[in-house]
Amino acid sequence: MKILVCVSVVPDTTTKITFTDGDTQFNKAGVQFIINPYDELSLTRALEMTEANGGSVTVITVGEADTEPVIRKALAMGAGDAIRVDASPKDGMYVAAQIAEQAKAGEYDLVLTGRESIDYNGGQVQGLVAEMLGWPFINVAMELDAEGNTIKATRDIDGGREMLTANTPCVVSAQKDLCEPRIPNMRGIMMARSKPLNVVPAVDKYDYTSVSKYELPPVKSGVKMIDAENAEQLIDILHNEEKLF
Ligand SMILES: Cc1cc2nc3c(=O)[nH]c(=O)nc-3n(C[C@H](O)[C@H](O)[C@H](O)COP(=O)(O)OP(=O)(O)OC[C@H]3O[C@@H](n4cnc5c(N)ncnc54)[C@H](O)[C@@H]3O)c2cc1C
Repeated sequence: MKILVCVSVVPDTTTKITFTDGDTQFNKAGVQFIINPYDELSLTRALEMTEANGGSVTVITVGEADTEPVIRKALAMGAGDAIRVDASPKDGMYVAAQIAEQAKAGEYDLVLTGRESIDYNGGQVQGLVAEMLGWPFINVAMELDAEGNTIKATRDIDGGREMLTANTPCVVSAQKDLCEPRIPNMRGIMMARSKPLNVVPAVDKYDYTSVSKYELPPVKSGVKMIDAENAEQLIDILHNEEKLF
């Protein structure tokens, strides 16, 4: 099975967010970038599946040259090769169009994504890719396997589980619990240096979005301690200051 794993390069969760250029650009200076955690899961599961049944795993990132160290980490985890679509991703639609183009050209059987990126949290790229390709789509899978041309996945639903099958080619997004993310070992890190990382130009589709302005959320006020005996003061604050009722 030929698997294409989508990897979003995101800031580490401890990053202090600031902006530049009149609050129109995210300030990347000093920021540690990582593989989107949900994408680590889909990549690990893709590796497990191809190790068990044969096939290949390619990772794809839509991003600029500064994403390459993180793409090399995905190669160190075990992916065979990588594609970087050379573009500044502006929104989910644009990213999905780039991925769909490569998925079609490379004749992949399975496109794996995370359930969402932990920076912009759109949760939309996977569905858009499936729609653009006209392929079946299984969202937020917590178990995933393949048997011949059939993909089997399990999802959490209200009060139970749902078992789904789909014919390849198809798109599946990963939910937590899919597997334990793999940590690259020294051999993987050494091998990653010489694995192919193919840089391809972006296709000119759905380039609609631009940022007018970013704004940080308001700073949270400190904790106010209220004596347990003083319910009246608590009610007064909730009513008059917080306007909760
Ligand atoms: C207004 C706006 C401005 C932006 N500006 C920039 C910018 O200047 N520079 C920049 O780097 N990013 C920028 N981004 C983020 C970039 O566009 C995101 O990659 C894209 O929007 C998808 O994010 P999402 O939250 O919709 O992804 P989701 O739909 O939450 O992602 C789901 C899954 O899709 C896959 N995926 C998502 N993004 C990518 C990707 N880029 N490559 C490969 N797979 C992917 C991953 O598997 C991910 O788990 C911007 C986003 C927005 C909305």
